[in-house]
Amino acid sequence: MGSRRKFIEKLSITTLGLPLLTSPVNLFSASCDSYEGPILKVAIMGLGSYGTRVAEAMVSCTRAKLVGLISGTPAKVEKWKAKYAIPEKNCYNYGNFDAIKDNPDIDAVYIITPNGLHKDQCLRVAKAGKHVISEKPMGINALEGQAMVDACKAANVKLLIGYRMHFEPKTVSVIQMRIDGEFGQPKFFQGQSGFTIGDPTQWRLKKELSGGGAMMDIGIYSINGARYMLGEEPIWVTAQETKTDPEKFKEGIDETIQFQMGFPSGAVASCLSTYAMNNLDRFFMTGTDGFVEMQPSTGYGPIEGRTHKGPLTQAHVTHQTLQMDGMAALIFDGKQPIVPVDGEEGVKDMKIIDAIFLAAKTGVKVEL
Ligand code: NAD
Repeated sequence: MGSRRKFIEKLSITTLGLPLLTSPVNLFSASCDSYEGPILKVAIMGLGSYGTRVAEAMVSCTRAKLVGLISGTPAKVEKWKAKYAIPEKNCYNYGNFDAIKDNPDIDAVYIITPNGLHKDQCLRVAKAGKHVISEKPMGINALEGQAMVDACKAANVKLLIGYRMHFEPKTVSVIQMRIDGEFGQPKFFQGQSGFTIGDPTQWRLKKELSGGGAMMDIGIYSINGARYMLGEEPIWVTAQETKTDPEKFKEGIDETIQFQMGFPSGAVASCLSTYAMNNLDRFFMTGTDGFVEMQPSTGYGPIEGRTHKGPLTQAHVTHQTLQMDGMAALIFDGKQPIVPVDGEEGVKDMKIIDAIFLAAKTGVKVEL
Protein backbone atom coordinates (compact mmCIF):
# COMPACT_ATOMS: atom_id res chain seq x y z
CA MET A 1 0.00 0.00 0.00
CA GLY A 2 2.93 2.34 0.56
CA SER A 3 3.47 3.06 -3.11
CA ARG A 4 -0.29 3.38 -3.75
CA ARG A 5 -0.66 5.85 -0.92
CA LYS A 6 2.34 7.85 -2.13
CA PHE A 7 0.96 7.84 -5.66
CA ILE A 8 -2.46 9.04 -4.58
CA GLU A 9 -1.08 11.57 -2.11
CA LYS A 10 1.13 13.01 -4.83
CA LEU A 11 -2.10 13.83 -6.62
CA SER A 12 -3.58 15.53 -3.57
CA ILE A 13 -1.85 18.88 -3.91
CA THR A 14 -3.72 21.90 -2.59
CA THR A 15 -6.04 23.54 -5.08
CA LEU A 16 -5.61 27.10 -3.86
CA GLY A 17 -5.06 29.32 -6.82
CA LEU A 18 -7.30 27.43 -9.21
CA PRO A 19 -9.64 29.57 -11.29
CA LEU A 20 -13.16 30.14 -10.03
CA LEU A 21 -15.80 27.54 -10.69
CA THR A 22 -17.86 27.36 -13.80
CA SER A 23 -20.43 25.07 -12.17
CA PRO A 24 -21.50 24.35 -8.60
CA VAL A 25 -18.81 22.74 -6.42
CA ASN A 26 -21.16 20.64 -4.42
CA LEU A 27 -24.37 19.67 -6.05
CA PHE A 28 -25.64 18.02 -2.90
CA SER A 29 -24.39 19.85 0.19
CA ALA A 30 -26.52 22.52 1.65
CA SER A 31 -24.55 25.42 3.05
CA CYS A 32 -23.53 24.85 6.68
CA ASP A 33 -25.36 27.97 7.83
CA SER A 34 -28.67 27.21 6.21
CA TYR A 35 -28.99 23.45 6.57
CA GLU A 36 -31.51 22.32 9.15
CA GLY A 37 -32.56 18.96 7.69
CA PRO A 38 -31.77 15.42 8.78
CA ILE A 39 -28.20 14.18 9.22
CA LEU A 40 -27.17 10.75 7.92
CA LYS A 41 -25.68 9.00 10.96
CA VAL A 42 -22.98 6.64 9.71
CA ALA A 43 -20.91 3.87 11.29
CA ILE A 44 -17.70 2.93 9.51
CA MET A 45 -16.82 -0.77 9.36
CA GLY A 46 -13.09 -1.31 8.79
CA LEU A 47 -10.82 1.35 10.23
CA GLY A 48 -8.03 0.91 7.68
CA SER A 49 -6.39 3.36 5.34
CA TYR A 50 -9.44 4.25 3.24
CA GLY A 51 -11.75 4.23 6.27
CA THR A 52 -9.40 6.77 7.84
CA ARG A 53 -9.66 8.99 4.76
CA VAL A 54 -13.47 8.78 4.72
CA ALA A 55 -13.70 9.62 8.44
CA GLU A 56 -11.49 12.68 8.02
CA ALA A 57 -13.50 13.84 5.00
CA MET A 58 -16.78 13.43 6.86
CA VAL A 59 -15.75 16.05 9.40
CA SER A 60 -16.50 18.61 6.66
CA CYS A 61 -19.86 17.10 5.70
CA THR A 62 -23.06 19.07 6.16
CA ARG A 63 -25.54 16.22 5.92
CA ALA A 64 -23.58 13.15 7.08
CA LYS A 65 -21.79 12.45 10.35
CA LEU A 66 -19.59 9.66 11.66
CA VAL A 67 -21.34 8.34 14.77
CA GLY A 68 -20.27 4.68 15.08
CA LEU A 69 -17.39 2.23 14.60
CA ILE A 70 -17.10 -1.45 13.73
CA SER A 71 -13.61 -2.86 14.09
CA GLY A 72 -11.69 -5.94 15.21
CA THR A 73 -8.92 -3.84 16.72
CA PRO A 74 -9.78 -2.35 20.16
CA ALA A 75 -6.76 -0.01 20.10
CA LYS A 76 -8.02 1.62 16.88
CA VAL A 77 -11.51 1.97 18.35
CA GLU A 78 -10.10 3.78 21.40
CA LYS A 79 -8.16 6.17 19.20
CA TRP A 80 -11.09 6.89 16.86
CA LYS A 81 -13.55 7.22 19.74
CA ALA A 82 -11.44 9.99 21.22
CA LYS A 83 -10.76 11.69 17.89
CA TYR A 84 -14.38 11.75 16.70
CA ALA A 85 -16.20 11.87 20.08
CA ILE A 86 -17.96 8.57 19.48
CA PRO A 87 -19.83 7.05 22.42
CA GLU A 88 -18.95 3.52 23.57
CA LYS A 89 -22.53 2.35 22.89
CA ASN A 90 -21.97 2.98 19.16
CA CYS A 91 -18.83 0.79 18.96
CA TYR A 92 -19.00 -2.80 17.75
CA ASN A 93 -16.72 -5.59 16.60
CA TYR A 94 -17.13 -8.08 13.74
CA GLY A 95 -18.73 -10.61 16.09
CA ASN A 96 -21.42 -8.45 17.65
CA PHE A 97 -22.35 -5.80 15.08
CA ASP A 98 -25.73 -7.42 14.32
CA ALA A 99 -26.84 -5.68 17.53
CA ILE A 100 -26.73 -2.45 15.58
CA LYS A 101 -30.38 -3.20 14.77
CA ASP A 102 -31.31 -1.96 18.25
CA ASN A 103 -29.29 1.24 17.92
CA PRO A 104 -31.38 4.19 16.69
CA ASP A 105 -28.26 6.39 16.62
CA ILE A 106 -27.06 4.66 13.44
CA ASP A 107 -28.78 5.01 10.04
CA ALA A 108 -26.16 3.47 7.75
CA VAL A 109 -23.00 1.35 7.82
CA TYR A 110 -20.15 2.15 5.45
CA ILE A 111 -18.30 -1.13 4.71
CA ILE A 112 -14.61 -0.37 4.05
CA THR A 113 -13.09 -3.82 4.54
CA PRO A 114 -11.36 -6.19 2.08
CA ASN A 115 -13.53 -6.93 -0.99
CA GLY A 116 -14.11 -10.58 -0.15
CA LEU A 117 -15.89 -9.62 3.09
CA HIS A 118 -18.31 -7.04 1.66
CA LYS A 119 -21.11 -9.42 0.67
CA ASP A 120 -21.57 -11.21 4.00
CA GLN A 121 -21.14 -7.96 5.93
CA CYS A 122 -23.71 -6.26 3.69
CA LEU A 123 -26.22 -9.04 4.28
CA ARG A 124 -25.79 -8.72 8.04
CA VAL A 125 -26.15 -4.92 7.98
CA ALA A 126 -29.25 -5.16 5.80
CA LYS A 127 -30.73 -7.75 8.15
CA ALA A 128 -30.15 -5.28 10.97
CA GLY A 129 -32.33 -2.81 9.06
CA LYS A 130 -29.60 -0.25 8.31
CA HIS A 131 -28.69 1.31 4.96
CA VAL A 132 -25.51 -0.12 3.42
CA ILE A 133 -22.74 1.84 1.76
CA SER A 134 -20.18 -0.61 0.36
CA GLU A 135 -16.80 0.22 -1.00
CA LYS A 136 -15.92 -0.76 -4.56
CA PRO A 137 -15.74 -3.42 -5.81
CA MET A 138 -19.07 -4.22 -4.16
CA GLY A 139 -18.15 -7.91 -3.93
CA ILE A 140 -15.90 -10.34 -5.75
CA ASN A 141 -18.26 -11.22 -8.62
CA ALA A 142 -21.67 -10.37 -10.06
CA LEU A 143 -23.37 -13.17 -8.17
CA GLU A 144 -22.29 -11.64 -4.86
CA GLY A 145 -23.30 -8.19 -6.07
CA GLN A 146 -26.76 -9.39 -7.00
CA ALA A 147 -27.14 -11.12 -3.61
CA MET A 148 -26.35 -7.78 -1.97
CA VAL A 149 -28.92 -5.96 -4.12
CA ASP A 150 -31.55 -8.60 -3.34
CA ALA A 151 -30.84 -8.59 0.41
CA CYS A 152 -31.09 -4.81 0.66
CA LYS A 153 -34.30 -4.78 -1.36
CA ALA A 154 -35.81 -7.49 0.87
CA ALA A 155 -34.81 -5.53 3.98
CA ASN A 156 -36.11 -2.28 2.48
CA VAL A 157 -32.79 -0.49 2.98
CA LYS A 158 -30.67 1.38 0.44
CA LEU A 159 -27.50 -0.12 -1.02
CA LEU A 160 -25.00 2.46 -2.27
CA ILE A 161 -21.51 1.86 -3.67
CA GLY A 162 -18.57 4.15 -2.92
CA TYR A 163 -18.27 5.57 -6.45
CA ARG A 164 -16.80 8.89 -5.34
CA MET A 165 -16.11 10.06 -8.93
CA HIS A 166 -19.87 10.32 -9.54
CA PHE A 167 -19.85 13.36 -7.23
CA GLU A 168 -16.54 14.90 -8.39
CA PRO A 169 -17.17 18.31 -10.01
CA LYS A 170 -14.88 18.02 -13.08
CA THR A 171 -16.11 14.50 -13.78
CA VAL A 172 -19.72 15.60 -13.34
CA SER A 173 -19.21 18.53 -15.72
CA VAL A 174 -17.73 16.25 -18.40
CA ILE A 175 -20.63 13.81 -18.06
CA GLN A 176 -23.03 16.76 -18.36
CA MET A 177 -21.21 17.93 -21.51
CA ARG A 178 -21.59 14.44 -22.97
CA ILE A 179 -25.31 14.40 -22.09
CA ASP A 180 -25.69 17.85 -23.67
CA GLY A 181 -24.14 16.52 -26.89
CA GLU A 182 -21.07 18.73 -26.73
CA PHE A 183 -18.78 15.89 -27.83
CA GLY A 184 -21.20 14.82 -30.55
CA GLN A 185 -21.46 11.04 -30.79
CA PRO A 186 -18.91 9.47 -28.41
CA LYS A 187 -16.66 7.15 -30.40
CA PHE A 188 -13.65 6.04 -28.35
CA PHE A 189 -12.58 5.85 -24.73
CA GLN A 190 -9.14 5.06 -23.43
CA GLY A 191 -8.64 4.33 -19.73
CA GLN A 192 -5.36 3.67 -17.98
CA SER A 193 -5.60 2.67 -14.34
CA GLY A 194 -2.70 1.34 -12.34
CA PHE A 195 0.06 1.65 -9.81
CA THR A 196 2.94 -0.48 -8.58
CA ILE A 197 1.71 -2.43 -5.59
CA GLY A 198 4.05 -2.83 -2.61
CA ASP A 199 3.90 -5.33 0.27
CA PRO A 200 3.46 -8.82 -1.23
CA THR A 201 1.73 -10.07 1.95
CA GLN A 202 -1.20 -7.62 1.89
CA TRP A 203 -4.84 -8.76 1.47
CA ARG A 204 -5.02 -7.18 -2.01
CA LEU A 205 -2.84 -10.04 -3.25
CA LYS A 206 -4.85 -12.80 -1.54
CA LYS A 207 -7.59 -14.14 -3.77
CA GLU A 208 -10.10 -15.02 -1.03
CA LEU A 209 -9.98 -11.47 0.35
CA SER A 210 -9.51 -9.48 -2.86
CA GLY A 211 -11.34 -11.56 -5.48
CA GLY A 212 -8.61 -10.70 -7.99
CA GLY A 213 -5.71 -8.33 -8.48
CA ALA A 214 -5.45 -4.93 -10.13
CA MET A 215 -8.78 -5.27 -11.96
CA MET A 216 -10.87 -5.43 -8.78
CA ASP A 217 -8.93 -2.63 -7.15
CA ILE A 218 -8.00 -0.08 -9.79
CA GLY A 219 -9.02 -1.44 -13.23
CA ILE A 220 -12.62 -1.01 -12.12
CA TYR A 221 -12.12 2.76 -12.48
CA SER A 222 -11.51 2.37 -16.23
CA ILE A 223 -14.58 0.12 -16.55
CA ASN A 224 -16.82 2.51 -14.64
CA GLY A 225 -15.21 5.50 -16.41
CA ALA A 226 -15.79 4.03 -19.88
CA ARG A 227 -19.46 3.62 -19.00
CA TYR A 228 -19.99 7.15 -17.68
CA MET A 229 -17.81 8.83 -20.30
CA LEU A 230 -19.46 7.06 -23.24
CA GLY A 231 -22.94 6.86 -21.69
CA GLU A 232 -23.57 3.29 -22.84
CA GLU A 233 -23.29 -0.27 -21.54
CA PRO A 234 -20.78 -2.56 -23.26
CA ILE A 235 -22.05 -5.53 -25.28
CA TRP A 236 -18.76 -7.41 -25.60
CA VAL A 237 -15.28 -7.56 -24.08
CA THR A 238 -11.93 -8.98 -25.10
CA ALA A 239 -8.92 -9.14 -22.75
CA GLN A 240 -5.27 -10.13 -22.63
CA GLU A 241 -3.33 -10.79 -19.42
CA THR A 242 0.37 -10.30 -18.82
CA LYS A 243 2.12 -11.64 -15.72
CA THR A 244 5.79 -10.86 -15.08
CA ASP A 245 5.91 -11.90 -11.42
CA PRO A 246 3.92 -15.10 -10.80
CA GLU A 247 5.37 -15.40 -7.31
CA LYS A 248 3.84 -12.09 -6.20
CA PHE A 249 0.75 -12.33 -8.43
CA LYS A 250 -0.45 -15.88 -7.82
CA GLU A 251 -3.24 -17.77 -9.60
CA GLY A 252 -6.36 -15.61 -9.72
CA ILE A 253 -4.48 -12.39 -8.94
CA ASP A 254 -4.15 -10.37 -12.14
CA GLU A 255 -1.05 -8.22 -12.47
CA THR A 256 -1.77 -6.52 -15.82
CA ILE A 257 -4.79 -6.87 -18.09
CA GLN A 258 -5.43 -4.95 -21.29
CA PHE A 259 -9.08 -5.07 -22.25
CA GLN A 260 -11.37 -3.77 -24.92
CA MET A 261 -15.12 -3.15 -24.82
CA GLY A 262 -17.61 -2.64 -27.61
CA PHE A 263 -20.82 -0.61 -27.24
CA PRO A 264 -24.17 -0.71 -29.07
CA SER A 265 -23.49 2.57 -30.95
CA GLY A 266 -20.25 1.18 -32.34
CA ALA A 267 -18.12 3.10 -29.83
CA VAL A 268 -15.13 1.17 -28.47
CA ALA A 269 -12.97 1.35 -25.35
CA SER A 270 -9.36 0.29 -24.88
CA CYS A 271 -8.11 0.03 -21.31
CA LEU A 272 -5.17 -1.01 -19.16
CA SER A 273 -5.39 -2.26 -15.58
CA THR A 274 -2.15 -2.95 -13.72
CA TYR A 275 -0.42 -3.44 -10.38
CA ALA A 276 2.99 -3.20 -12.06
CA MET A 277 3.34 0.36 -13.41
CA ASN A 278 3.03 3.84 -12.00
CA ASN A 279 1.72 7.11 -13.46
CA LEU A 280 -1.36 5.45 -14.92
CA ASP A 281 -4.44 7.46 -14.06
CA ARG A 282 -5.68 8.78 -17.37
CA PHE A 283 -8.96 8.96 -19.29
CA PHE A 284 -9.39 10.10 -22.89
CA MET A 285 -12.63 10.21 -24.82
CA THR A 286 -13.28 11.48 -28.30
CA GLY A 287 -16.55 11.98 -30.12
CA THR A 288 -17.56 13.30 -33.51
CA ASP A 289 -17.50 16.92 -32.26
CA GLY A 290 -14.93 17.08 -29.48
CA PHE A 291 -12.75 15.36 -26.93
CA VAL A 292 -11.85 15.27 -23.24
CA GLU A 293 -8.68 14.15 -21.53
CA MET A 294 -8.27 13.83 -17.78
CA GLN A 295 -5.04 13.11 -15.94
CA PRO A 296 -5.23 12.41 -13.07
CA SER A 297 -8.71 11.12 -13.74
CA THR A 298 -9.66 9.15 -10.61
CA GLY A 299 -7.00 9.82 -7.94
CA TYR A 300 -8.02 11.65 -4.79
CA GLY A 301 -7.50 14.91 -6.58
CA PRO A 302 -7.31 17.47 -7.78
CA ILE A 303 -8.51 15.93 -11.01
CA GLU A 304 -7.05 17.76 -14.01
CA GLY A 305 -8.25 17.84 -17.56
CA ARG A 306 -9.27 19.68 -20.68
CA THR A 307 -11.77 19.37 -23.44
CA HIS A 308 -11.79 20.76 -26.99
CA LYS A 309 -13.30 23.88 -25.34
CA GLY A 310 -10.46 24.43 -22.87
CA PRO A 311 -9.36 23.41 -19.38
CA LEU A 312 -11.70 22.00 -16.75
CA THR A 313 -11.75 24.63 -14.03
CA GLN A 314 -14.16 23.40 -11.36
CA ALA A 315 -12.55 23.65 -7.92
CA HIS A 316 -11.38 20.59 -6.06
CA VAL A 317 -13.44 19.51 -3.06
CA THR A 318 -12.49 16.43 -1.04
CA HIS A 319 -14.20 13.63 -2.94
CA GLN A 320 -15.40 11.71 0.10
CA THR A 321 -17.01 14.82 1.60
CA LEU A 322 -19.04 15.38 -1.56
CA GLN A 323 -19.84 11.68 -1.77
CA MET A 324 -21.17 11.39 1.77
CA ASP A 325 -23.24 14.58 1.54
CA GLY A 326 -24.49 13.33 -1.82
CA MET A 327 -25.42 9.97 -0.37
CA ALA A 328 -27.33 11.68 2.44
CA ALA A 329 -29.23 13.70 -0.18
CA LEU A 330 -29.99 10.47 -2.02
CA ILE A 331 -31.21 8.66 1.09
CA PHE A 332 -33.25 11.52 2.55
CA ASP A 333 -34.49 13.33 -0.57
CA GLY A 334 -34.19 10.68 -3.29
CA LYS A 335 -31.86 13.11 -5.08
CA GLN A 336 -29.90 11.03 -7.62
CA PRO A 337 -26.38 11.92 -8.71
CA ILE A 338 -25.72 12.35 -12.44
CA VAL A 339 -24.71 8.68 -12.66
CA PRO A 340 -26.21 6.23 -10.14
CA VAL A 341 -24.27 4.92 -7.15
CA ASP A 342 -26.77 2.18 -6.31
CA GLY A 343 -26.25 -1.56 -6.06
CA GLU A 344 -27.43 -2.12 -9.64
CA GLU A 345 -24.64 0.19 -10.84
CA GLY A 346 -22.17 -1.91 -8.87
CA VAL A 347 -23.49 -5.15 -10.39
CA LYS A 348 -22.97 -3.72 -13.91
CA ASP A 349 -19.25 -3.31 -13.18
CA MET A 350 -19.03 -6.75 -11.55
CA LYS A 351 -20.58 -8.42 -14.64
CA ILE A 352 -18.01 -6.71 -16.84
CA ILE A 353 -15.16 -7.81 -14.53
CA ASP A 354 -16.45 -11.41 -14.64
CA ALA A 355 -16.50 -11.19 -18.46
CA ILE A 356 -13.00 -9.68 -18.62
CA PHE A 357 -11.59 -12.49 -16.45
CA LEU A 358 -13.28 -15.06 -18.69
CA ALA A 359 -12.04 -13.36 -21.86
CA ALA A 360 -8.47 -13.15 -20.50
CA LYS A 361 -8.53 -16.83 -19.52
CA THR A 362 -10.07 -18.21 -22.70
CA GLY A 363 -8.91 -15.72 -25.30
CA VAL A 364 -12.45 -15.48 -26.66
CA LYS A 365 -14.62 -12.42 -27.21
CA VAL A 366 -17.24 -12.52 -24.44
CA GLU A 367 -20.70 -11.17 -25.21
CA LEU A 368 -22.50 -9.36 -22.40
P1 NAD B 1 -6.86 -1.53 4.42
O1 NAD B 1 -6.10 -2.79 4.44
O2 NAD B 1 -6.12 -0.27 4.66
O3 NAD B 1 -8.06 -1.59 5.47
C1 NAD B 1 -8.90 -2.71 5.56
C2 NAD B 1 -9.53 -2.75 6.93
O4 NAD B 1 -10.31 -3.94 7.05
C3 NAD B 1 -8.50 -2.77 8.07
O5 NAD B 1 -8.90 -1.92 9.09
C4 NAD B 1 -8.53 -4.22 8.53
O6 NAD B 1 -8.20 -4.36 9.90
C5 NAD B 1 -9.99 -4.58 8.28
N1 NAD B 1 -10.23 -6.00 8.16
C6 NAD B 1 -11.29 -6.64 8.69
N2 NAD B 1 -11.23 -7.94 8.46
C7 NAD B 1 -10.09 -8.16 7.79
C8 NAD B 1 -9.46 -9.32 7.27
N3 NAD B 1 -10.02 -10.54 7.41
N4 NAD B 1 -8.29 -9.19 6.62
C9 NAD B 1 -7.73 -7.98 6.44
N5 NAD B 1 -8.28 -6.84 6.92
C10 NAD B 1 -9.45 -6.93 7.57
O7 NAD B 1 -7.61 -1.47 3.00
P2 NAD B 1 -8.26 -0.19 2.35
O8 NAD B 1 -7.31 0.41 1.40
O9 NAD B 1 -8.84 0.67 3.41
O10 NAD B 1 -9.43 -0.87 1.46
C11 NAD B 1 -10.67 -1.26 2.02
C12 NAD B 1 -11.75 -1.22 0.94
O11 NAD B 1 -11.87 0.10 0.46
C13 NAD B 1 -11.49 -2.09 -0.27
O12 NAD B 1 -12.69 -2.64 -0.74
C14 NAD B 1 -10.94 -1.12 -1.31
O13 NAD B 1 -11.19 -1.52 -2.64
C15 NAD B 1 -11.71 0.13 -0.96
N6 NAD B 1 -11.00 1.36 -1.33
C16 NAD B 1 -11.67 2.29 -2.04
C17 NAD B 1 -11.03 3.46 -2.40
C18 NAD B 1 -11.77 4.52 -3.15
O14 NAD B 1 -11.16 5.49 -3.57
N7 NAD B 1 -13.08 4.41 -3.29
C19 NAD B 1 -9.69 3.66 -2.07
C20 NAD B 1 -9.04 2.69 -1.33
C21 NAD B 1 -9.71 1.53 -0.96
